[in-house]
Amino acid sequence: MEIPFIDLKRSYKIYGEEIEEAVKEVLRSGIYLNGSKTKELEETLANYLGTYFAVGVSSGTEALYLILKALELPQNTYVLLPSFTFIATSEVVIRNGLIPYFLDIDEKTYNLSPKSLEEAYYKLTDQGKKVSAVIAVSLFGLPADLEKIKCFCEEKGLILIEDICQSFGAKIKDKKVGTFGVASATSFYPTKSLSTCGDAGMVFTSDKFLAQKIRYLKEHGQTKPYFYEYHGVNGRIDEIHSAILLVKFKYFENEIKLRNKWAKKYQEGLKDLEPYLKLPFVPENYYSTWSLFTIKTKKRDKLREFLSKRGIKTGVYYTYPLHLQPVYKKLNFKKGNLPVTEKISQEVLSLPMFPYLTETEIEYVISFIKNFFEEVLNE
Ligand SMILES: *Cc1c(COP(=O)(O)O)cnc(C)c1O
Repeated sequence: MEIPFIDLKRSYKIYGEEIEEAVKEVLRSGIYLNGSKTKELEETLANYLGTYFAVGVSSGTEALYLILKALELPQNTYVLLPSFTFIATSEVVIRNGLIPYFLDIDEKTYNLSPKSLEEAYYKLTDQGKKVSAVIAVSLFGLPADLEKIKCFCEEKGLILIEDICQSFGAKIKDKKVGTFGVASATSFYPTKSLSTCGDAGMVFTSDKFLAQKIRYLKEHGQTKPYFYEYHGVNGRIDEIHSAILLVKFKYFENEIKLRNKWAKKYQEGLKDLEPYLKLPFVPENYYSTWSLFTIKTKKRDKLREFLSKRGIKTGVYYTYPLHLQPVYKKLNFKKGNLPVTEKISQEVLSLPMFPYLTETEIEYVISFIKNFFEEVLNE
């Protein structure tokens, strides 16, 4: 049996015809940008998330970039963010003339550790450095400790921005991620939980002025036809992507339910293997959308190879933490600076996870993981 890590073709089979109809409608309408599909998508998703405004943009990266750009934070001040995330989170900090400062994560949730945030804040301010913002990432579908992080940001006058590219729809109690900070960014990249057939993203905020400014900035800074108050970018979403997303959004809640079902099945099937293998931890009142199902084991590389030989594809997010990336050498982080991140990046393994997996496939994966540990334990 071959089990893909993520199979987009299977999803397409479910609603492909509907998508093709929706795309055909856009193609025939002659309106390809800034049309009714985008407006409808923005309203639908803002309403779903619980913010007043949403602005469709060309990618999750651009969504993050535009939030920072619109905020006009003082140049060369510090933006705190976890090292254990995708590079887009830090890239946009540099592109805005700000300095990324990497934080460690919580050992159990893999999300930004509030303790590391506090320590970094005091360390930098004691050195006379100015910290202006925090980017909290809710990784793998699980909300970061946003209540605590928000509290700290408010106390210190820091701006909280949320990267919810992997966790659109996740929530703490009834409050969705993406509504804790001043603004949040999501991505509709093909492998994200709510995705399109290409690149697109969205900014969410309840700040009217911020939303309007981002609207201008994603359109070259144009505030009326061919009149520019800002220097912006070409960062629009297309009508085709908006139309596709409107179709896929109808299936989204059900797909999250399916992801939760598979996560539960993995949890139950693998729980006997603890402590050799650590299962994902979900704090009480947290609701994960399981964009990835990530286990942790010291035998990560061996297990990955073992599964691969049996047709089971897995992923590693992330092998190289951002603070040790060659591109950030100048920021002077060293091995040992963020011990939890460094340890965890050696041990995490993401198992096949997408809505249209089958019961049989999950059982197959579970049984081979069990076989692996039996063999290892008998060595
Ligand atoms: C995917 C992702 C992004 C970037 O989104 P794109 O649409 O690919 O630009 C940013 N941050 C995180 C955490 C992501 O997973």
